[in-house]
Amino acid sequence: MTPLATSSWLQALPKGLQQLSEQHLLRTRRQVAPAQGAHITVDGQRMLQFCSNDYLGLSQHPALVEAARQGALECGVGAGGSPMVNGHTAANAELEEALARYVQLPRALYFYAGFATNASVIAALVGAEDAIFSDALNHASLIDGCRLSRARIHRYAHADLRELERLLASNPQQRKLVVSDAVFSMDGDVADMTGLLALCEQYDALLMLDDAHGFGMRGPQGRGSLAAVGLSGANASARILYMGTLSKAAGVAGGFVAGSESLIEWLLQRTRSYTFATAAPGMLARALLVGLSVLEQGDGLRAHLQAQIVRLRQGLEPLLAATGWQLLPSDTPIQALVIGDNAQALQLMEVLRQRGIWVPAIRPPTVPEGTARLRIALSANHTDADVAQLIAALHAGVLAMQQDLRPEPAKP
Ligand SMILES: *Cc1c(COP(=O)(O)O)cnc(C)c1O
Repeated sequence: MTPLATSSWLQALPKGLQQLSEQHLLRTRRQVAPAQGAHITVDGQRMLQFCSNDYLGLSQHPALVEAARQGALECGVGAGGSPMVNGHTAANAELEEALARYVQLPRALYFYAGFATNASVIAALVGAEDAIFSDALNHASLIDGCRLSRARIHRYAHADLRELERLLASNPQQRKLVVSDAVFSMDGDVADMTGLLALCEQYDALLMLDDAHGFGMRGPQGRGSLAAVGLSGANASARILYMGTLSKAAGVAGGFVAGSESLIEWLLQRTRSYTFATAAPGMLARALLVGLSVLEQGDGLRAHLQAQIVRLRQGLEPLLAATGWQLLPSDTPIQALVIGDNAQALQLMEVLRQRGIWVPAIRPPTVPEGTARLRIALSANHTDADVAQLIAALHAGVLAMQQDLRPEPAKP
């Protein structure tokens, strides 16, 4: 065979990568391994990390690890097929019942990934004739799910219920779906769920809430953001599709939806990432079943974490005053320190890294232009000393940066 000429658009890729690099938008992966507590080894170096979604430390919990081991003996390590054919194990069925009980909704459906859940359930609910109303800061998986449905998408400014109401009032489509993160993943704030629900009631819309960061964390016994505002059972399932991920506080992997009996049955029938994907391995369902009971009894862990959140916010006040940076309002473990400039956010991350602390800088397009930030994620693994160390390192880092940024003295 004669040598092929490289396709012209493949030839253009190095230039595209170069541009990303010049805009400080090139992402790199580090090889990591968990170490003790809130520590992690990054490229072989032991670091104190503030980046995990494993809020309560369940991913390393001995009881979950043991349950996964036993689950592997029971079910093997892979499911071998779609839940519609041969992948729906007893473990997966038990997990669905336990999830529904835990979030206090009639029925739940367990998916292999949270992203795939969002990317696919929306298309099972609405189509080209219908309308979606979507918060501007919704997670990428929801945005993709909305696009895939072919429904008309109306984006409202973050948390702006007035704009949402205006859009709902001016769109007479029969089927309307309002989609929102319950806890916003890059800002850490919480949606006004009762306000959203009231609008959905008024305009006969269905409300889909993505509680990736609230499930296991908020409300009594960690039952989630709905339970936190007193919504459960028939009252919630009348108009809400609840979605949670099992990869964050629950410490494992997967996603689920919960809601009324017929809504969940419909999604089971019609969601393509459910029927055409291999089921989540039963060994993970076994780990998650134990994880749910740890979450249910996790008030002590959650209280400890809440105290760290308060400690961090108080400790950063002088820094905010000195720099003009903004710590976004949040009572969740997601604490966003907005720097603004991409290069400066990266520089601060680097200064912390040199001090053995790992906090990711988040840049556009993950967050809006001009709002590059350090996304500090706290967990129950953090001790008082860990948080104090972060606060001290940030103060020292700012001094180092200010020296770096000082203009060169004018030459005589
Ligand atoms: C992480 C996340 C997801 C995706 O869940 P995975 O389990 O990681 O696939 C969906 N929505 C939000 C808001 C998230 O933060």
